[in-house]
Amino acid sequence: MIIKPLRAFEDNYIWLITLDGIEHCAVVDPGDEEPVIAELDKRGLTLAAILVTHKHYDHTGGIDALKKQYPHVEVFGPGNESIRQIDHVVEDQQKISIPGMNLDFEVLSIPGHTEGHVGYLGNGVLFCGDTLFAGGCGRVFTGNFEQMSASLERISQLPPETQLYCAHEYTQANVGFGLWVEPQSVLLQQRKQSVEIAVAQARPTVPSSLQEELETNPFLRVEQPNVIAAAERWAGKPLKSNADVFTALRQWKDSDYD
Ligand SMILES: [Zn+2]
Repeated sequence: MIIKPLRAFEDNYIWLITLDGIEHCAVVDPGDEEPVIAELDKRGLTLAAILVTHKHYDHTGGIDALKKQYPHVEVFGPGNESIRQIDHVVEDQQKISIPGMNLDFEVLSIPGHTEGHVGYLGNGVLFCGDTLFAGGCGRVFTGNFEQMSASLERISQLPPETQLYCAHEYTQANVGFGLWVEPQSVLLQQRKQSVEIAVAQARPTVPSSLQEELETNPFLRVEQPNVIAAAERWAGKPLKSNADVFTALRQWKDSDYD
């Protein structure tokens, strides 16, 4: 399986999934059809499937045009969000097969950013949309903080070598916030340097491994004493649960940082 980023808008990634010697391919979260059609035309590929993580327009805006261009494409996505183009409503733990590609994924329900957000897990990777970002996590919009906290906890239980493909290039700002929470972290300081180099060279900082996130992403480190202490300092009160620590971190980043 080969995964290539197609850039869209300011900082979105549309992930293109191909197999050597196979004409069929799939994309994840096509907010814009243009970069997808351009790449497929160039390479003589046919779009077999669209995987949608959630309803936001920057993840779904290209679906109509892609359905027109590739009439046989099949669209997979969550049922409890208003995404009218879905052909196959997916549910937690459901196995899906990409038509013509002999590729299987398992659906992971990871709400919080939105109420029905899903991820697609398989072949050593997770397409996690706007739930987990490299070095950070999505904002809580139409889901809630408890859901988001539980979703991140669920992701953190996956094998640490899992490669995480999120939908935005937000890593530099995320790592900056991480250093507010854990200024002493050598791993985070090293990550900041490597991210700065990648950004300066216009290289994607995504994917990252779950291992790297467990070591440097504050939103996956809500059980670490120094993270709890930093969150409690910001909140000005003791925080009793993982969800409370998560909520304080998320609100801290929302209000003070950006
Ligand atoms: Zn979103």
